Amino acid sequence: MHPSCRNILNKCDTLMLDMDGTLLDLAYDSFIWLDLVPKEYAKKMNMSLGDATAQLYKHFMSLQGTLKWYSSDYWSELLDLDIIKLHQMERDKIQYLTGAEEFLNLIKTYDIRVLLVTNAHNDILKLKSEVIGIDQYFDQVYISHDFGAPKESQLFWKKLSNAEPFDIKRTVFVDDNEIVLDSAKQFGIKSLIQITKPDSKQKQQIAKNYLGVKGVLELIE
Ligand SMILES: [Mg+2]
Repeated sequence: MHPSCRNILNKCDTLMLDMDGTLLDLAYDSFIWLDLVPKEYAKKMNMSLGDATAQLYKHFMSLQGTLKWYSSDYWSELLDLDIIKLHQMERDKIQYLTGAEEFLNLIKTYDIRVLLVTNAHNDILKLKSEVIGIDQYFDQVYISHDFGAPKESQLFWKKLSNAEPFDIKRTVFVDDNEIVLDSAKQFGIKSLIQITKPDSKQKQQIAKNYLGVKGVLELIE
């Protein structure tokens, strides 16, 4: 167990967990968006992979942190590609991060309300649930698209607290995205944890402003 995590879960009654990069390996999503989509887009537009990648990256950057960025419908329409189908083609790459499934099984035995709080689109969550059953571990699942605001915005947290009253002093929130953690902090959530190894194929990140753990299992063991 990470020494600073000792008792952190004993002092909370709500645990909010992000999905991609916190429980599930971000390598899958990175592969889809940074490899497969540019390749398919280049084919469709009859352009070089380099040009397609440059064009897409520019677009990705401009929408980062917005609900559109997380919307497979938006990208399907804009790029005229079936984004869900591309995800389905590569479904074998969907996997838990090291220790995440073990953690989810252990946390079920705690007297804590466990929530999935994700920016992922409903169709993607559905696919991931079909493949590895991620949805079975939670008391409730909240998708930012249902609130019309991403976790990066205060509106999301306001709407979440209306749907699910929680005590900001007795809630632990875990995410791999520092901007999302900043947003949760601004809302007043006290216990914030950053995952530093969200992608099995990338090197570990450094948590500068939050308590960092490589994976969720460190919260218990
Ligand atoms: Mg994430």
